Amino acid sequence: MVMLPDGFTFNQANLQDFVDCPRRFQLRYVQGQQWPAVMAEPLSEHEAFVRRGAQFHCLVERHQLGLPVAEMASGLSDSVLCTWWDAYLGFEMLHTLPGERFPELRLSAELFGGRVMAALDLVVVEPGSRVTIFDWKTYGRVPRREWLAFRLQTVLYLYLVAVVGPGMLGDWLKPDMLSMVYWFPVEPGLPVVFRYSQQQQQEDGVRLAGLVQAVLGGSGKDVWPLTSETRLCEYCQFRSRCGRGVAAGVFGEFGGLDEVVGAAGVLSFEEVDEVGF
Ligand code: SF4
Repeated sequence: MVMLPDGFTFNQANLQDFVDCPRRFQLRYVQGQQWPAVMAEPLSEHEAFVRRGAQFHCLVERHQLGLPVAEMASGLSDSVLCTWWDAYLGFEMLHTLPGERFPELRLSAELFGGRVMAALDLVVVEPGSRVTIFDWKTYGRVPRREWLAFRLQTVLYLYLVAVVGPGMLGDWLKPDMLSMVYWFPVEPGLPVVFRYSQQQQQEDGVRLAGLVQAVLGGSGKDVWPLTSETRLCEYCQFRSRCGRGVAAGVFGEFGGLDEVVGAAGVLSFEEVDEVGF
């Protein structure tokens, strides 16, 4: 039986780590190792990506809270951020959606023998009618729908809202009133929408339970399996620790393949999502 640190909480990022590479989960969360390696080169581009994504999330949060961000946005010097902000202001589907807004909503629950948490960019609740989860993705391009559907973020967020939502919002909330929208500033007219259902909730529950229990049942002594997908290692801070190379992956190259976009989840996309505001 594995020993996780006190207060350990499962979330989309660490569950995705476990799916991508059990060894990475073990090194990062069970053993708490911080290996001194850059995840992608050039470092400045990677850092700028993370910083810009965090700024964008912060601006949107304040706007959704009703704070006067127009002046703040007009003073932005980053041209990419300005473009994203303009795209956000033109996102009609969001701005015309009725309902109460809950930006940067944290949900958690005891599930499957562990504590599970989700950090939602925005939830819009129309009582008695529907609940829409929004997630801003500052990727360089829009990934395939199938890839997004399989990501732990999609699975966990919808599942957790379906489980916790009725207690928070009322018994009216049924799985088929739930949907999740990924929105990409680089393709503002192409949001990817997932509608939920009771059947999907059942399937997701089985998958999540299996993952949490696989982690909790992991060996406390043995080395957990290393991924066979070696491209993931190029963007992983533990690559020299695992004997999987020394050079970091090239930051700009992960936009070419969905699998490599997956690898980038290791380095950047989850970092942006996990930034606290
Ligand atoms: S370098 Fe590769 S095998 Fe090692 S933890 Fe990272 S992803 Fe897993």
